[in-house]
Amino acid sequence: MFYAEMKDGSRVSAADYLVFCEKPEELYCPGCKHPVFCKKGTKKLTHFAHYSNSDCKQFSEGETAIHLLGKQRLFDWFQKQKITVQMEAWLPKLQQRPDLLIQLDDGRKIAIEYQCSPISNEKLVERTKGYLNNGYEVLWICGPDYFINQSLSQKQRLFLYSEGGASFSLLCFNSETDELLFYDDIYYNKRNQVHYNFSKKKLCQLSFKAFEEWYKGKSFRSKNRELEGTNFYLSYSKRMSLLHRKDYSHRLFLEQLYIRNHSLHELPNWLFYLPTKDLFYQTPAYIWKYYFTNWLFKKGVGEFIQISDFSEFIEHSKENPVIFYDTPFVKEKNRNQPLLIFIQELIKQGILKESGRNKWRVTKSSF
Ligand SMILES: [Zn+2]
Repeated sequence: MFYAEMKDGSRVSAADYLVFCEKPEELYCPGCKHPVFCKKGTKKLTHFAHYSNSDCKQFSEGETAIHLLGKQRLFDWFQKQKITVQMEAWLPKLQQRPDLLIQLDDGRKIAIEYQCSPISNEKLVERTKGYLNNGYEVLWICGPDYFINQSLSQKQRLFLYSEGGASFSLLCFNSETDELLFYDDIYYNKRNQVHYNFSKKKLCQLSFKAFEEWYKGKSFRSKNRELEGTNFYLSYSKRMSLLHRKDYSHRLFLEQLYIRNHSLHELPNWLFYLPTKDLFYQTPAYIWKYYFTNWLFKKGVGEFIQISDFSEFIEHSKENPVIFYDTPFVKEKNRNQPLLIFIQELIKQGILKESGRNKWRVTKSSF
């Protein structure tokens, strides 16, 4: 933490303390009120720290050099632009302490969180709601542990967001290089690899206004450009190797095949089109596609389905569970996208027939 309380309750920053306090003062954590001390290091900016054995909930000792530096850099960035900014401000009504709190001239109040450590979905949702329900916007900026490389982890998916459209982005900040990193247009391509557009900008060369335009800017991508055209499917050998998968999803899938008297090698290729990975579906595509097709077969020829029935398929199929990643900043309508694309395939295969806008009729009851 950069701010501590003195005996008289006033706040002092670590930098000021170093310069102005000639003799050691008693210092306290603004969160838990336990004694803290000023720590001057070579690796971290001067800051306050608890003595050992602290169980402070608001300031963990896990605050890394990268996090401290990021907070300071962002703070300086706002100050330079003459934007009202507070660091480590306590919001008693919310019982939350954002890294930074800014107030813009038009009255907007924005909590800024520079997230460097892991956070659970529940906590992320709870904290975000806390801000939104009390008139604050919130801007989550991810630290270096969230940079995207070859693949996506659950951790990164948590912070995926979309500004309208069906394009997904992730915002990161590298406090060591003072660069904002922007991953835009993230999706899985036909080689089952994560695709994204990457751009970065020096924080000091941006104004907050320019940043917001950049951050909220809609992607210019024509929808799923790379996903159109020739379909590729999982190779036969890869398909057959699924027989050896021991994880829960695959065991259940193989069991369902057996119960329905289907064999893996006889299933149609279009169930195995690539990508089989997805931003939102944790269940591999061939599995939920198989379940969805069987769900239609079970409904029977002549029955109608529409988008509102999707939740019946997703939520009520206890024996065929479709598992999603936690993506709290993505709207449900975006999660339906893969299903809608698959429906186009089912129409091609003569299993569904379009019957009005977003309404379809089942026309086949077996593969
Ligand atoms: Zn404390």
